[in-house]
Amino acid sequence: MMRYFIAANWKMNKTVNETKDFIESFIPMVKDVTDIDLVIAPPFTSLDAASRALKGSNIELAAQNTFWEEKGAYTGEISPLMVVDAGCRHVIIGHSERRQYFSEDDVIVNRKIKAAKRTGLGIIFCIGESLEEREAGKAFDVIKRQIEMGLAEVSADNLVVAYEPIWAIGTGKTATSDQAQWAHAFIRNILGNLYGNKAESIRIIYGGSVTPDNVDSLMAGRDVNGALVGGASLKSESFARIVRFKKET
Ligand code: PEP
Repeated sequence: MMRYFIAANWKMNKTVNETKDFIESFIPMVKDVTDIDLVIAPPFTSLDAASRALKGSNIELAAQNTFWEEKGAYTGEISPLMVVDAGCRHVIIGHSERRQYFSEDDVIVNRKIKAAKRTGLGIIFCIGESLEEREAGKAFDVIKRQIEMGLAEVSADNLVVAYEPIWAIGTGKTATSDQAQWAHAFIRNILGNLYGNKAESIRIIYGGSVTPDNVDSLMAGRDVNGALVGGASLKSESFARIVRFKKET
């Protein structure tokens, strides 16, 4: 049985004090959860405070993005080494908001993944189709391209794939548990072409309006190995309920 992986993506939310308050209330709510990998991705400015507050807990830290170079004249960018230094064990790469608002294409995503992996960071690699692509019957082509280009020359270790259909992110529309399982099985198949048997141990997590109300059914699929949670991870009670999901059988 694969260990579930559940991560909070706070996006551009929470000051340092709000981060500390969240963590202080969240740690006791989940301290007995030992069978799930728990991760929080605050904004860069909160990483240091979060790292201190999480010390000794069962929760790991992720960055929401990193650049593909280690250092240099790249005003405004943050390197993988810097987030490792700030206490991160993971980084989210290829989030649809980065692709949409910051023009990150599959080539850039691939460069970022390779650079982050060189520092030992675990990768939370986001993929997913838009509504137009889905309606045009291109969802699986898009997912296949994103995987093949994003993971070109990337090893399978320390890799989590987050399937996040863009039409479900922050919209309140969620894939049904059947739609999620169907897409995840397809993704596992593509990963199998790239990595052979190793694909069986890659966690494929679902993201897109996951809430306490739908998490139990979304986690039911055989190939759904966790969740990436945006809006519903901003309140400790709500995120704790998601972490304590009761898988529907
Ligand atoms: C996300 O941004 O990764 C996400 C899944 O957001 P939300 O849960 O708000 O749809």
